[in-house]
Amino acid sequence: MAPYAPPEDPEAIAASAGLPREALIKLDANENPYGASPLVRAALADFAGYHLYPDPDQRALRALLARYVGVDAGRLLAGNGSDELIDLLCRIYLEPGDEVIDCTPTFGMYRFSAEFCGAQVLEAPRTSDWSIDVDAVRSALTRRTKLVFVASPNNPSGNLLDERALIALLDTGRIVVVDEAYIEFSERESWCGRVDGHSNLVVLRTFSKWAGLAGLRLGYGVFPADVLRHLWKVKPPFSVNLAAVAAVRATLSDLPSVESSLRRIVEERARMAAELAEIDGLRVWPSCANFMLVEVERGLASDLKEFLASRGIAVRAYGHPRLRGAIRISVGLPEHTDALVRAILDWRARGG
Ligand SMILES: *Cc1c(COP(=O)(O)O)cnc(C)c1O
Repeated sequence: MAPYAPPEDPEAIAASAGLPREALIKLDANENPYGASPLVRAALADFAGYHLYPDPDQRALRALLARYVGVDAGRLLAGNGSDELIDLLCRIYLEPGDEVIDCTPTFGMYRFSAEFCGAQVLEAPRTSDWSIDVDAVRSALTRRTKLVFVASPNNPSGNLLDERALIALLDTGRIVVVDEAYIEFSERESWCGRVDGHSNLVVLRTFSKWAGLAGLRLGYGVFPADVLRHLWKVKPPFSVNLAAVAAVRATLSDLPSVESSLRRIVEERARMAAELAEIDGLRVWPSCANFMLVEVERGLASDLKEFLASRGIAVRAYGHPRLRGAIRISVGLPEHTDALVRAILDWRARGG
């Protein structure tokens, strides 16, 4: 199998630009430039329970999450990032020869986890504006299709799953996994509240992006009872660590401040999109997440990516055929946007 292609090593990008690591402007992994709440650092410094094993039933954690999400704690399961939940879903549903539908281009973990289980990943390419192509999903269905994965907002296109498409996907009768890793940036309601009415809807969420806790690995999902029953059987007992639980508690006790950095990112997204759209030969796709997909219509995306790296700005480029002409740029601090725009203009001035 092909290994997962993670973002490049930041030390290496900084070194090749001749910069110290702290000077690198990291816009390649959708991390939160404001970091976690200051209460997280205080809580971890004061935490006295590191010698104890976490609660395998995640009781206190699920109670906190239930209050935040507004669903019953009995519907929830947390994992070591939502990546672990994607992996567990694949493990309980997929046998060699089974099939999964991926609405491409999209996040790479669905394919990665499904292939490890010996499943075949069929692509239902998104339409020209990156919406779900419901007919393509329907025609990819076979007897062996077990799971359909949809990110909303989608990574890397930034658009949301609409209700009509969601209903059509649920009507296929297969387990539909809606990955809402970026929903907090969208100013739209999560589909979590719909899990109750559907035995085949799973919604995944995470603290990695909006709460700035990517390094602590805390994801969770809202699951139908029948799915959850099997997940509990295979879940490693201690994969969610106590530092992550303390960090979630501190984050949720400081929501006004975390939400204010979230709003700053959303405002910066609008300013960044407007500034980039001003640059000749770039097409900026509207985004409901903390990144945006930019098509390089004049010059080569791979060349722009390399040029930005040489200026100490890391962005993401792709091998997927529909994304060869595009880069994905995370929304950073206002000064990051300024440096980015200056560097792209410089690239243009040099004939890029
Ligand atoms: C970043 C990302 C995740 C990963 O979330 P973790 O909770 O950090 O594992 C999941 N889904 C999508 C679409 C992402 O972009």
